[in-house]
Amino acid sequence: MVYRAEYIWIDGAEPTQQLRSKTKVLDDDDKPGIWGFDGSSTNQATGENSDCVLKPVATFADPLRGGANILVMCEVLLVSMKPHPTNKRAPLATVARKYAKHDTWFGIEQEYVFLQDGRPLGWPETGFPGPQFPYYCGVGAAEAYGREIVEAHTDACIAAGIKIAGTNAEVMPGQWEFQVGPLGPLDVSDQLWMARWLLHRIAEDFEVSVTLAAKPVPGDWNGSGAHTNFSTKETRTSWTAIEKAAKALGPKHNLHIANYGHGIEQRLTGAHETESYKNYSYGISHRGASVRIPWQVAVDRKGYIEDRRPNANMDPYTVVRLITDTVCSALEK
Ligand code: ADP
Ligand code: MN
Ligand code: MN
Ligand code: MN
Repeated sequence: MVYRAEYIWIDGAEPTQQLRSKTKVLDDDDKPGIWGFDGSSTNQATGENSDCVLKPVATFADPLRGGANILVMCEVLLVSMKPHPTNKRAPLATVARKYAKHDTWFGIEQEYVFLQDGRPLGWPETGFPGPQFPYYCGVGAAEAYGREIVEAHTDACIAAGIKIAGTNAEVMPGQWEFQVGPLGPLDVSDQLWMARWLLHRIAEDFEVSVTLAAKPVPGDWNGSGAHTNFSTKETRTSWTAIEKAAKALGPKHNLHIANYGHGIEQRLTGAHETESYKNYSYGISHRGASVRIPWQVAVDRKGYIEDRRPNANMDPYTVVRLITDTVCSALEK
């Protein structure tokens, strides 16, 4: 019997890289190996020199096709077998190796908005829904739009072997969240990209699309973020390390903001549970700060902190690399 491997990779789209995939039919005694694609169609090569290489890095059960079929997360290489410039996983692997002894864990909260007919799912054809308030964690046909897609996505993540930690309806109608983790740097990033692919793919069957745009609707509507929670061996046992980690992110604020996703200035305005992108702040329980120390962590005097700055459209390989580098280098001082 043959089976199918869906090869999934990240393209060269600007300003935000997007997911691509194609199917390979394999004989049952074949393993998914190196493959290739036309980089001139993904902003990763020119027509005269178009071949790019797909290298499998993480394999999951395919919950949609079932059986022996698999989903294969790939990184993109040049034909020289060196990482392609758009491959952000390779630099993360280097930083993760350098700081492996700190045993960093990440839990990422992925917010997103369903779209249909050019507007958020459930929104009226003209005008606006009622103001934000009943939708966050809401229940009922007038509060929650698209729950059947959320449930199908959660089932699929669990069946694939993705460490999905939870889901909730968000503040803007048609907006939802799922969390992945806690996991190490490469695993959380591979799994978040795979969970995103499953979300786009499953919503497709409902004729709904998914946007990770940072501020999909301007005005008095929440943007979409990807709060990134993290801990190290040290923060999981010591309050001093928690404070050190939160302080270390301050001097590197601009570098992080520049790499936390397109359109961050529209989202981090200082309103809608955000701190302005112009400032860095941290605080216990503070949802208007750049970094929040959860209440329970302050009680326990150990645990993790939440970087609230990353956009929904951020690249986890990049965000996880920057946090690991900034925090672990400070912990070593
Ligand atoms: P909230 O919406 O209140 O900000 P969530 O429950 O959505 O919080 O997300 C909390 C996240 O924190 C989850 O993704 C979880 O995996 C993560 N997390 C919990 N403990 C740790 C830890 N020790 N290190 C890193 N991440 C953690
Ligand atoms: Mn959350
Ligand atoms: Mn949220
Ligand atoms: Mn959060």
